[in-house]
Amino acid sequence: MSNNKILRDGHIHSHYCPHGTSDSFELYVDKALKLGLKEISFTEHMPLPEMHLEPEFFKSCAPTIEEIGEYIKELDCIKSKYKNDIKINTGFEVDYVEGLEEETKKTLNAFGKKLEDSILSVHFIKLENAYYCVDAGIKEFKKLADILGSVEKVYDSYYETLLKAIKSDLGNYKPKRIGHPTLVRIFNKEYPSEYNNIKLFKEIINEIKERNYEIDFNTAGIRKPYCKEIYPSGIFLELVKANDIKMIYGSDAHNASDVGKDFQ
Ligand SMILES: [Zn+2]
Ligand SMILES: [Zn+2]
Repeated sequence: MSNNKILRDGHIHSHYCPHGTSDSFELYVDKALKLGLKEISFTEHMPLPEMHLEPEFFKSCAPTIEEIGEYIKELDCIKSKYKNDIKINTGFEVDYVEGLEEETKKTLNAFGKKLEDSILSVHFIKLENAYYCVDAGIKEFKKLADILGSVEKVYDSYYETLLKAIKSDLGNYKPKRIGHPTLVRIFNKEYPSEYNNIKLFKEIINEIKERNYEIDFNTAGIRKPYCKEIYPSGIFLELVKANDIKMIYGSDAHNASDVGKDFQ
């Protein structure tokens, strides 16, 4: 990373996100213009495949297929409205859900032609036949650590899933940028860990490098009360730098005022 001013925010949500805010696209873009950004990507959560989750929680994760169609349509208008002011990309934050790759590929293929800049993220890990969200809340994280036996095992299973995500076949529209790769550290202040599975980190980095993928340098963690750090951090970040993997700043904003946040 250079010390130059960051001119691009590659990870922004919208009012279509069910756990977000009602801030309009205009508010997001105005904030970006105020900061002097030259390029932004809206990367709304792609609808999840049908999966076993508590129904209310499932609904809160991502917009429906109908809503995401509206998102793309509205973005087309916003893009033309601001075409002389800033480059706006249409994108998704795509969940990698282990075992549901075909369903994911189907949704990606349905919208792929409209996508310009997307992110592939892991939020769920699969245990037996159930899915657990690693960033749903501190209680859920604790529960997951209890089921697996330790915080380290949660980390292992997160990074193993990340490796599968990178290697997965999600078709022609699979995103080339890996979202917040150390998200599993979201509660590290409450559940500290000396975890450093360098072998697994190196495997992940090698697979990213081999495919020429990028990394989402995601500042949202700084604003999370039990995290206080950017994803990626620590040894993972050192390996990213040592291997010259491209990083794109992302605020992961779910409201207009967070656009470009913590970039400098
Ligand atoms: Zn979100
Ligand atoms: Zn995410």
